[in-house]
Amino acid sequence: MKKKVLSRLVVFLLMVVMTGLLPITAFAENGNNESVLTQATPGCSYQTHVQNVGWQGFKSNGDMSGTSGRSLRLEGIEIKLDNQGYDLGVSYQTHIQNIGWEANTNRGWKSNGTMSGTEGLSYRLEAIQIKLIGADAAKFDIYYQVHAENFGWLGWAKNGESSGTAGYGYRLEGIRIQVVPAGQGAPTVTTALPFYDKNAPVEPENPTGDLKVSYIDVGQTDSILIQQGDHAMLIDAANNDDADAVKNYISNQGVSVLDYVICTHPHEDHIGGMDYIVNSFNIGKIYLPEATATTKTYQDLLTAVANKGMQFNSPTPGKSFMLGDATCTILGPINWDQAELNTSSIVLKVDYVNNSFLFTGDAEAVNEQDMINAGYDLNVDVLKVGHHGSTSSTTQSFLDATSPSYAIISVGAGNTYGHPAASTITLLQNDGIKIFRTDLNGTIVANSDGSNITFNTTPTNSTPVEPTDYTVYKTTSGTKYHKDRCSYLSSSKIP
Ligand SMILES: [Zn+2]
Ligand SMILES: [Zn+2]
Repeated sequence: MKKKVLSRLVVFLLMVVMTGLLPITAFAENGNNESVLTQATPGCSYQTHVQNVGWQGFKSNGDMSGTSGRSLRLEGIEIKLDNQGYDLGVSYQTHIQNIGWEANTNRGWKSNGTMSGTEGLSYRLEAIQIKLIGADAAKFDIYYQVHAENFGWLGWAKNGESSGTAGYGYRLEGIRIQVVPAGQGAPTVTTALPFYDKNAPVEPENPTGDLKVSYIDVGQTDSILIQQGDHAMLIDAANNDDADAVKNYISNQGVSVLDYVICTHPHEDHIGGMDYIVNSFNIGKIYLPEATATTKTYQDLLTAVANKGMQFNSPTPGKSFMLGDATCTILGPINWDQAELNTSSIVLKVDYVNNSFLFTGDAEAVNEQDMINAGYDLNVDVLKVGHHGSTSSTTQSFLDATSPSYAIISVGAGNTYGHPAASTITLLQNDGIKIFRTDLNGTIVANSDGSNITFNTTPTNSTPVEPTDYTVYKTTSGTKYHKDRCSYLSSSKIP
């Protein structure tokens, strides 16, 4: 090719580029001194700062940056453009846990390689927005997608739209970004990698802090607060009358966000105070079994959640999620009976390094057998005894499968149900299990450092609760016998 012809071609092509007819052109020269046309879409490279790991190195043009582990969330991002001579830059912001969009703070949008987000722990990214800037911005679309905790890859967003969520409990684990000519459409997903490696170890390598479990003393009901690092989960919220006590307990722990809320089943002694809790705290995900009730307290819960713009999650046995560095696995209900609401109880196992806790709600013997038959690893250190220690739960085979060192019974003093059953206490004692009871110990707080569990109180070594073990009282006017501390017993008692 003669030089004159070549220079005319260069001029022609430059004009084409400048008028935007051919958005992506550049020259390269081959060995014969002949120019060939090569495509040059502006390239996009990006890297992520991963919890406990740090910066990952730059990836580009649709490759994943992030992690393949469940407990390693994104804390910051950096994005750069190779703009191929266009007047083009990239600007981006992140939605940060507990802080919100950076544009709503004095941090503002970031651009061209500066860090958005944080490099510190416990401020994880929840969503991103990315847009092209510069005179040539309209010639291209920038597409991006995020891998959200518990969700997987979300759909492509483009040109400043939000990808991810602005809510709690859905943190980002990975991102993919690609610039394409305007109007070309979203990149294909063929470069997507299987993100979550199901064989990856669930236990984090560097767990931080303790796992703290509070079995709140709320009488003949259940309410349990679980904290790990700056994460919290509530299992049940006692009766309607206990709503304030539960809320105050949570608030007094410095908790304002409940990453997860579990409503084990629709009975009032488990969900009674939950509408108030839903109205009082920021909540990530809320679980409720599929069994329903017609009670007002159940309707109140549905209304509170709907008014908050939230939806319930149904429990799927075998599914896990992370509470900070603790792994929570749903084990039940595998089968349930609408006519027996206790059988619909969500059963949850919480593993923290080498310690395990099992939370059973009011699950019954049939549910216990289902979990044994399913082959789950039920071995735990601490068992929340099912259904307030009733004979309906806690079979010998379930104790054999769980082999707990400690048993917690959430039970009201002088309750009219006769809970816990003497036979349950006997089974626990025969297995040498140390027993804590909310009626005798008050609120029971278990603290695990991952290896050892300590309690705020000492086991009761309680004797079997037989009616004959009590001094029974009769009121001066009454015809019934009452146990001491029974709420039906006025001061005018006669032994
Ligand atoms: Zn129940
Ligand atoms: Zn109950």
